[in-house]
Amino acid sequence: MAYQVLARKWRPKRFSEVVGQEPVTLTLQNAIRHDRLAHAFLFSGVRGVGKTTTARILAAALNCHQGLSPEPCGECDSCREIASSSCVDVLEIDAASNTGIDSIREIRESVRYGAARDRFKVFIIDEVHMLSKGAFNALLKTLEEPPSHVKFILATTEYHKIPDTIASRCQDFEFKRIPFSAISQHLQLICGEEGVQAPEVAVQAIASAAQGSMRDALSSLDRVVAFSGDKIRTRDVQTLLGALDDDLVISLVKGILEKDRTSLLRSLSSITQAGVEPHSFVSRLIQHMRDLMVYKVVGWDEELLNLPDRIRDDLSDQAEGFTRLDLIRLYQLLVRTDEEMKIHANPFLHLEMALLTLVELTALPDLEETISQLGSGRGDKLTDASYQGAIKESSKSTISIATPSDKEKKMEPRASIGAKESVLPESEVVKALMGHLRKTNMGLHASLERAQQMTYEKGRLTVVFGLDSGFHYRMIDGGMKEKIEMTCSRLISSNVTVQVDLIDSGDQVETSSPTEEPAVQDFLRAFPGKYVVEVEN
Ligand SMILES: [Zn+2]
Repeated sequence: MAYQVLARKWRPKRFSEVVGQEPVTLTLQNAIRHDRLAHAFLFSGVRGVGKTTTARILAAALNCHQGLSPEPCGECDSCREIASSSCVDVLEIDAASNTGIDSIREIRESVRYGAARDRFKVFIIDEVHMLSKGAFNALLKTLEEPPSHVKFILATTEYHKIPDTIASRCQDFEFKRIPFSAISQHLQLICGEEGVQAPEVAVQAIASAAQGSMRDALSSLDRVVAFSGDKIRTRDVQTLLGALDDDLVISLVKGILEKDRTSLLRSLSSITQAGVEPHSFVSRLIQHMRDLMVYKVVGWDEELLNLPDRIRDDLSDQAEGFTRLDLIRLYQLLVRTDEEMKIHANPFLHLEMALLTLVELTALPDLEETISQLGSGRGDKLTDASYQGAIKESSKSTISIATPSDKEKKMEPRASIGAKESVLPESEVVKALMGHLRKTNMGLHASLERAQQMTYEKGRLTVVFGLDSGFHYRMIDGGMKEKIEMTCSRLISSNVTVQVDLIDSGDQVETSSPTEEPAVQDFLRAFPGKYVVEVEN
């Protein structure tokens, strides 16, 4: 017999076999039991969590020859045909490849006639959000006055794209990501039944990489079994899926927390030797930073964290070891590293440096703490020890990263910058600069155009980008700043410094830069580091 992929072979045929979607399946069963079935259902949720499977089971429950029942028999012609997608009364339409109005017209035509053999004519429309506007309108007409022998089951991965007029006519069912423990247990069960030996750590690595999708988990298991046969090794899972087992991630992050650079480099080396692909590795680390932040905010929450219970203590230790600010810094650097690795000739080298930078980032002091110390006249007491570790938790809400250039650091105090009178009124500087760049440097002009705000005041040009323009922010911050400073200085015959900020678009744009505060100036002189993190209450 031909090999059948696991997702297909193990596809549930009864509601009780659907893993991790009990709220949905129980509600549907109750509706059947009490004869309160809607004529249209909308199943939403990420891919691979059981939407189409549940739609087929519901169709089978509706049409089972043993009678309308909360659990289809799985044996009768109707049940078997529906399971193999060959039932004439259950039509599956993939809206992704039939987006137009014609496919819906066909449905409207066929709705007029009763079911060929079974109780109901059931239409399962997958990826329904892909339908064109015209097709949705046509579908709406059918949903408005459906014949009693027709049921619609619409499924979508993008609920927000479904018009309200459609959604309001359907009974809504939200499919959640499947809990880690449920996927892990199901994989163990399947391995047992299939005669595959798999260590728990390997199975957990597969479950963890699946991110709540059973279909992804099963297709990963397929690949691993095809590679290693009946005996799965953890190393094979890492090689094939780039999936890191949680212990490796924990030990690596421990290296960052304890500033143990040697162990950090060794862990990375052993991970790379196992054949883990750099991108998967960084993604996993980014996920871990998110998990640590979640733990810090809500504690151990199974649904939000979706992690094996055995790493609970480690996660708790690490969440305690980092401040929220640390975690945000680490997260941002990792996201940036992930992007930069795509264009880097040697991604591993880049990754190595990024990991070492992570250690330095966690050693940076908290600006709020520092300001309060400076303000209370304790600035001189900011010793190296407080620089290394005295980072208090902050109730921060916005972050902006500014990079004072070497030039800026030399030119202090800031207030003296621009003291020389400029030939242009301040209000005209930005306009003049943009006009000049439009003619001389179109690339730079285009990037600056993406800024949310550009202001010029007292020898300082402040450029503010929203998070959605991160690329342009980095481009300018990463090397084009000097060019702008030079151009602008020449244009107004006066020294100009440029400050580039990145802000969360939801935040207010500050009109004057906080780094102009005298206390911050003191701080900048005390610690001329690359990252200045602004903290607001
Ligand atoms: Zn049946």
